[in-house]
Amino acid sequence: MERPIDYALAIRDLARRHNALFRDSIPLIASENIMSPLAMEMLLTDFGFRYAEGLPHHRYYQGNFFVDQVEDMVTELAKKVFGSKQADPRPISGTNANTSVLYGLTQPGDTITTPPLEGGGHISAARFGAVGLRGLNPVNYPFDVEEMNIDIDGTAKLLRETRPKLVLFGQSVFLFPTPLRELRDVFEEIGCTVWYDGAHVLGLIAGKQFQDPLREGAHIVTGSTHKTLPGPQHGIILGNADEEVWKAVQRGVFPGTLSNHHLNAMAALGVTLAEAMEFGEKYAAQVVKNARAMAEELASLGMKVLGEKNGYTRSHTLVVDVREYGGGRKVAELLEQRNIILNKNMLPWDDSRKSQNPSGLRIGSQEVTRIGFSEDDCREVARLIHRAVVKGEEKEKIIQEVRELKDAHREVKYCFGRLEAYRYFEIADLGDSGH
Ligand SMILES: *Cc1c(COP(=O)(O)O)cnc(C)c1O
Repeated sequence: MERPIDYALAIRDLARRHNALFRDSIPLIASENIMSPLAMEMLLTDFGFRYAEGLPHHRYYQGNFFVDQVEDMVTELAKKVFGSKQADPRPISGTNANTSVLYGLTQPGDTITTPPLEGGGHISAARFGAVGLRGLNPVNYPFDVEEMNIDIDGTAKLLRETRPKLVLFGQSVFLFPTPLRELRDVFEEIGCTVWYDGAHVLGLIAGKQFQDPLREGAHIVTGSTHKTLPGPQHGIILGNADEEVWKAVQRGVFPGTLSNHHLNAMAALGVTLAEAMEFGEKYAAQVVKNARAMAEELASLGMKVLGEKNGYTRSHTLVVDVREYGGGRKVAELLEQRNIILNKNMLPWDDSRKSQNPSGLRIGSQEVTRIGFSEDDCREVARLIHRAVVKGEEKEKIIQEVRELKDAHREVKYCFGRLEAYRYFEIADLGDSGH
């Protein structure tokens, strides 16, 4: 390409094609979602080009008259939706929320207890992620494959032996609620701060369909706001903590680990939380029903869905062992070629140092739920996966049926206003620049 504008237009063209790809595909990545029209509108505002360092009404720059009011409102909404004493909507991602807590509540050299990567733990809780960056020593809870959860007795024993001042729970493969209530006596005995990373399940917690960590023993909850909570790519921290603990966490946010807090995304988060108040319970209940319908159908077709003992899932996520079909990587790529988008994932017995072709697939029901898929539709998705992977049916036929299923669901649901899902918005007027 020669002219600068050719690059610019090529990028626009790729963006347009990307939207069309997702319009015609079945999106099953468990950490993604689609936003509402009103929330999307916020992303395009001038908020996205400003700074507002510090806390509302105590800023470093001028020009924050409206930003302060928005931030106050988003904080209030978060406290209402999650029933928390404290809320900070500034972190720009789930990882940033986590680094803020780590920065505020630990010192280099401390030990922190965390879920193991093979058990679905997130990289920010690993030695080579944010926990390592803070110079901490992570010790993993034992994991129970049958239960697809941390092992309660083993975890209690580990906590008593290790006596960390900060304990972290919550995973990226999050099928069942963390046994916080069962461990509460141990938390009190060792006097630790209990931190629950709800990145994946925040929308289910908002909709009262998973667990309520702040009433089960957690002092701090962090999360991404774009996974089951269908908001902007952003983060949040919630607290039922002592005032000193909360102040330390907020210092971890700013000046600790961010400067700009992406004010347009924060406004979009506010809209998303208001929508969660109005539609969140129905949405989250359908998300869980859909995940379970997909899991049961895949299992009835003979595929190995984990967590059978507990009904496969109580969240948006299910995991499938696909070793017999060539492993997670091969199967995820095969499905991608048929417009079914999901990801390979480590399963509890995989070696986290060799993660390129893990045993499993991770599947999430939240985005298809958001565009109106029912349990019947999700059983159909399961049959398409089975036909593609196990029966090896013709690619074009699968793609065609994927598109038909998707064509029946064209609108974003559970939100204020109406929006055609995956629509491309062209706002640049290029005049007579030759295009
Ligand atoms: C996704 C995830 C994060 C990180 O969130 P980002 O918003 O992508 O930075 C943190 N913790 C867990 C458990 C996650 O699944």
